[in-house]
Amino acid sequence: MTRALITGVTGQDGSYLAELLLSKGYEVHGVTRDADEAVTTGVIAHELDLATDSAIAELIATVEPNEIYNLAALSSVYQSWQSPALTARLNGAVVAEMLAAVKVIHDRGKTDIRFVQASSAEIFGVPTESPQNEQTTVRPTSPYGAAKAYAHGLVGAYRTAGVAASSVILYNHESPRRPETFVTRKITAAAARISLGLQDTLELGNVDARRDWGWAPDYVDALVRTAQHLFADDFVIATGVSHSVREFVAAAFARAGVDDWQDRVRISDTLLRSGDAPLQSGDASKARQLLDWSPTLDFDGIVSAMVDHDLALLS
Ligand code: GDP
Repeated sequence: MTRALITGVTGQDGSYLAELLLSKGYEVHGVTRDADEAVTTGVIAHELDLATDSAIAELIATVEPNEIYNLAALSSVYQSWQSPALTARLNGAVVAEMLAAVKVIHDRGKTDIRFVQASSAEIFGVPTESPQNEQTTVRPTSPYGAAKAYAHGLVGAYRTAGVAASSVILYNHESPRRPETFVTRKITAAAARISLGLQDTLELGNVDARRDWGWAPDYVDALVRTAQHLFADDFVIATGVSHSVREFVAAAFARAGVDDWQDRVRISDTLLRSGDAPLQSGDASKARQLLDWSPTLDFDGIVSAMVDHDLALLS
C-alpha cells in the first residue's frame, strides 16, 4: 500500500488531496495544527504546529512515506504582509526541514521517496512575460512569494542532490472550500447573501487584477500526477485563461440573480496590496504533455459551483 504524508491536510487542497488519495487506496497521514481541526475521515492525523515545532523531521522518519505533499503554508498573500516572519517559517524554513529529513532517509538507501512542493505563481511577482512557464524569471514581490521562491529553490537544490523533489507552480485554484480571505469566496458568499437581502454591499480592493483561476480538485490531481511521474521535475499548473476580479464579480452576481452589481460594490483603498500582479497567466503545456493533465472546469463552471454552494448554505 502506498503511504502518503500531507501537510496542510485540513485546508482546501489538503482535504481534496486526502479524498483523492484515499479513493486510490493510499494510506494517508496528515499533519494538523491542533486536535480541534476537522480531518477527512480515514486520514491518520498527527498533531504538530509547524510554526513552532521542528518535529516534522521526526515524523517523516517515523512514517517513512512513499510520497510527501507539502501543502502547509500561510496561504494568503495579504496576510503575508501582516506576518512576514511567520510566512518565512511556514512557507520557507519548514520546507528546508522536510527536505533535509528526506535526504537523511535517501542517503541511508531508501531513494524512492517522492516530495511534492505546492509552489505558487506568486514566485514570479509582477511577471516579466505572459504567459509564464517553468523558465520564467523568479522575482517575487510579496513576503508570501519570497518564501515560496526560497522553497522552490530548495526543491531544485535537493533534486540536484538526488532527492526526488518536485515543485508544482500552482496558479489560483478555487472551490466552495476556499475561505473568505480569498477574493473568489468573498465574492460568491457576498453575492449569495445580497441576493437574499442579507447584505447590502461588498467591499473590494483591486478589481482590475486578472487571475488565472482554476478548479482546486484539478490542481490536487496534478500534484498526484507529479508524484507518480517517472522523474522529479517542476511544472506550471494553470488554465491559461485569465479574468479580472471585476469579471468574477459580474459572473457571480449574475449567477445569484443580482442585476445591479455595480451599485453593490465599494472600492476600499485599504484592501489594495503592494506588488499585486496586474495579470497572471500560466502556460501548463509541459504538464499537459508529460503528466497528461488538463483542467476539467472552466471559469463559468467554477463561479457557478461556488455561488450555488453558497446559496445552498443559506437556504
Ligand atoms: P492570492 O492573491 O493568490 O492570495 O488570492 P486572493 O484571492 O486573495 O487575491 C486575488 C486577487 O484579488 C489579488 O489581485 C487581490 O489584490 C485581488 N482582490 C481585490 N479585492 C480583494 C479583496 O477584497 N480580498 C482579496 N483577498 N483579494 C482581493
